Amino acid sequence: MHMVHMRGSSRNYNVGKIICLGRNYAEHARELGNPVPKEPVIFLKPATAIIRSGEQIVIPSYSNECHHEVEMAVLIGGYGRNIEKDKAHELIAGYAVALDMALRDVQNRLKKQGLPWEIAKGFDTSCPLSDFTPRDKVTTPERLGIRLSINGAIRQEGNTDQMILDPAEIIAHASTIFTLEEGDIILTGTPAGVGPVRSGDQLRAEIDQLGSLEVSVR
Ligand code: MG
Repeated sequence: MHMVHMRGSSRNYNVGKIICLGRNYAEHARELGNPVPKEPVIFLKPATAIIRSGEQIVIPSYSNECHHEVEMAVLIGGYGRNIEKDKAHELIAGYAVALDMALRDVQNRLKKQGLPWEIAKGFDTSCPLSDFTPRDKVTTPERLGIRLSINGAIRQEGNTDQMILDPAEIIAHASTIFTLEEGDIILTGTPAGVGPVRSGDQLRAEIDQLGSLEVSVR
């Protein structure tokens, strides 16, 4: 059972499924040569992909190109299906800083072959995650600076206001496909600037009001 922690409380959540949005920032879709999608691109990671701040990313031996993607994570605090957009915020327990680590070489090969992406996106250590900040402590989740640096140099810098679908819209859409349960997590997509990480790199991901996440690459 994988648990995540809520800051300022003794509350822990058992993680269920991790629902990830692809191409949810238009600039990032373009940088990978993908069209800006007409419908959301969704995939899942298993809870076993999670590591915490201070731990290490381990790149699987079947890849030579592991990319960083800094993302805002949303923790689901209730149960629901077919949730209306204007009720979606009631289901949000909190927000965190996440990385969606992607084996880009493997993903590109699978995409070309029309095959699923899980081995490129769901491997152990592919989801570094900070502790969560409660919803009521985050005043403007729809407008937060988000950035990632490697060994002190900024690589990704954006703002959550650049998302194509905001968290409420993602919850409304995703809950038409998957019943949402307490402990589910949504990764909301990455801004432009993704690129490779190498053994020994120190990654620092930050989102305004949510703090930071620091991991290294083994
Ligand atoms: Mg991503």
